[in-house]
Amino acid sequence: MPFNNHKTVFIITGFLCICIGLFSFARYMGWLAQDSGLLAMIARTVYGPDVRREMARLKHVKEISPGIPPITALCYHEVTPDRENDCMNVKPEVFRRHIREFKEAGYVFIHVGDLLNHAAGLAPLPEKALLITFDDGYADNYNYAFPVLREEQVPGTFFVVSGTIGKDNRMTAGQLREMQANGMIIGSHTVNHENLTGMNAKDIDFELRTSKETLEKILGKPVCALAYPTGKVNETVLDKAKSYYDMAFVAVVRQETKQTMYTLQRYGVFNWNKHIESIFKNR
Ligand SMILES: [Zn+2]
Repeated sequence: MPFNNHKTVFIITGFLCICIGLFSFARYMGWLAQDSGLLAMIARTVYGPDVRREMARLKHVKEISPGIPPITALCYHEVTPDRENDCMNVKPEVFRRHIREFKEAGYVFIHVGDLLNHAAGLAPLPEKALLITFDDGYADNYNYAFPVLREEQVPGTFFVVSGTIGKDNRMTAGQLREMQANGMIIGSHTVNHENLTGMNAKDIDFELRTSKETLEKILGKPVCALAYPTGKVNETVLDKAKSYYDMAFVAVVRQETKQTMYTLQRYGVFNWNKHIESIFKNR
């Protein structure tokens, strides 16, 4: 019986203590906040998802962009069980895993109306506020993401390209209405999904105004939020966005860039984001 030997027990105990110490140190340093790997999996099981990096970013957002809702906002595109190699596609089971990990990490899911209330000074936001958005209006958003959101009781915001409603694998007007009736928010992603910074003021005005009008006719409700196609903006685009919307989103996070209600930043979410920790590393 080797464990009768005190020296062996001492060595094994010492070795385990060193392993646990190194593991704890690596976790403390954020080195285990990864998608894959056995140690990352153990760290996630023991400590829950590591969102400290994101909490530090939000603290910085409060400092450099006072008055802007300090939230974590995500931008998904397609959510289908197929097209594994499409970087813009997140599988439905991975999407559900993301939601569950955010819940486990203590996040509260908000919608764009909460941002307006915050901006108007009517209601504070939770410390860990999460806004989930989808760009482009793909039919799979209705088929796969919407059922998950409903089951998990999470509000989603869908930025729809008004000129493609009901066409080419995009959501129909009826589907948009059904989602709205079930707590989802619909926003504008323009009429034609073209880069607004390459247009003159008249064309920008058409893209922002007509998409809003079309969606409002379908939904019977004001459309208050916009997502810029390709995420690109300039002064003319910003001015037009202010004429028609209460807020607008880009699709990138730049920690050092000051945000306004018309340049709210979102993390893109891609097929390599198997767990939530790596989303915070997307730029
Ligand atoms: Zn888009």
